Amino acid sequence: MKFPARPPVLPDLFRGLPVLTGQEIPAESAALCPTGAIKAGAKPQIDLGRCIFCGRCAQFAGNAVSFSREYRLAASTRAGMLHAGGEYPAARALDREARRIFGHSLKLRQVSAGGCAACEADVNVLGTLAFDLGRFGIQFVASPRHADGILVTGPVTKNMQSALLDTYAAIPEPKLAIAVGACAISGGIYSGSPETCGMPESIPVDLYIPGCPPHPITILDGLLRLLGRIR
Ligand code: SF4
Repeated sequence: MKFPARPPVLPDLFRGLPVLTGQEIPAESAALCPTGAIKAGAKPQIDLGRCIFCGRCAQFAGNAVSFSREYRLAASTRAGMLHAGGEYPAARALDREARRIFGHSLKLRQVSAGGCAACEADVNVLGTLAFDLGRFGIQFVASPRHADGILVTGPVTKNMQSALLDTYAAIPEPKLAIAVGACAISGGIYSGSPETCGMPESIPVDLYIPGCPPHPITILDGLLRLLGRIR
């Protein structure tokens, strides 16, 4: 499937995949990153799972980092999000059997696990006419009993941990887990806070969608790649 049919219209301030020129980033500059996403040195690296796309590094290390308009940022593994420049690996599709089960109809239960509502807002936007998620057979459902998977936003606060675990447990097998936004992936700006726990290890993540918040087209692109609808 060709999607989108034409390049999406993105806001002027949109920051996509970082471009690393290969110039060194000194440790004192990398320390200015608010989420510790930058690995300093002669071969710098940006962890897209931590990055909040604030653009600060393009100011303090402008010779080393700039931002492209590439919105296709979803990843299949945490390691795949460690970006050192060059080609960024696209999210892999589920295996054949999982695509047979979920590929034409995917119901998701969304859990806001202590998020600020920005990721939640961009997930909600997927249901509007502009993106029309339902036309791809993907819908959000109220009950985890009716869901094929969970979509998590937020850094997983202590207050939300048991609700998240209960919701995941209530989804019948086989099931998927999707982490949307820097907070759900790494804790984002809340990383290290004593009030957050991070994604429980008992929830194996099938798809990571970076951003703070991710643009809706980034989320949709990731979901469609997971289902093997686009490659
Ligand atoms: S854009 Fe990302 S890597 Fe750069 S300073 Fe902000 S959080 Fe750090």
